[in-house]
Amino acid sequence: MTDETPVLEIRNLHKSYGELEVIKGVDITAHRGDVVSLIGSSGSGKSTLLRCCNLLEDSQQGNILFKGEPISWHGTGLARRPADAKQVLRIRTNLSMVFQQFNLWAHMTILQNVMEAPVTVLRRDRDEAEAAARQYLDKVGIGDKCDVFPAQLSGGQQQRAAIARALCMEPEALLFDEPTSALDPELEQEVVKVIKDLAAEGRTMMIVTHDMKLAADVSDHVVFLHKGLIEEQGSPDEVFGNTQSERLRGFLSATR
Ligand code: ADP
Ligand code: MG
Repeated sequence: MTDETPVLEIRNLHKSYGELEVIKGVDITAHRGDVVSLIGSSGSGKSTLLRCCNLLEDSQQGNILFKGEPISWHGTGLARRPADAKQVLRIRTNLSMVFQQFNLWAHMTILQNVMEAPVTVLRRDRDEAEAAARQYLDKVGIGDKCDVFPAQLSGGQQQRAAIARALCMEPEALLFDEPTSALDPELEQEVVKVIKDLAAEGRTMMIVTHDMKLAADVSDHVVFLHKGLIEEQGSPDEVFGNTQSERLRGFLSATR
């Protein structure tokens, strides 16, 4: 692989749920170190796109390439799941997802949450995984919360634990699905800061967000989805500073 091969490439992707086509031919490329933000109204297909990249969904046409390797799958009938379990594991490890609702395991401490998958799924050495987990929890500013349970933390702290858990997989890229949408405004900023730090250290990321300031601050490329199609895209300066489409103009004025 050369450095020019994108980490993630979506090519002419089409995705339907039954009769309902929700992704109608989308192309997105993320090279190493790129931060791509996906914006758009509720129902425009943002989560579906991320879920396709993570092999949580099939598609009907087009391709998704991870470092040049085709990973999208086109399911039919009852066999609607990817054929190759090893590939699924490798892709989910390398494109680690952070969800709106954190999805921490309630019965495990924060430290256990972060080191669980590296130990049980990736078969990493337990001591090494624990050391890495502590280091990532420190990095997101909750190194003192190792031994508490998720319910004892604020939403912002839980989401930072979820980010540490994603980082502990040592992924090639991080996929964020509305990481700050479930948080009170004052807690949003602590998560935004972590995402900005990750962008500054050159992480490859695709971020679905309703936070236009975050998208403007961290992105190399902003994609505005409308009903399963890219309506407008470009640098933050282009998309926010020199908006072309009437729909994007309307969307931006409604989110202010
Ligand atoms: P967004 O994240 O932009 O709000 P989604 O990707 O969640 O959009 O949804 C896109 C469209 O697909 C919506 O019309 C939604 O109702 C529909 N949809 C999402 N998930 C499913 C599903 N599992 N089954 C059927 N329809 C779905
Ligand atoms: Mg969504």
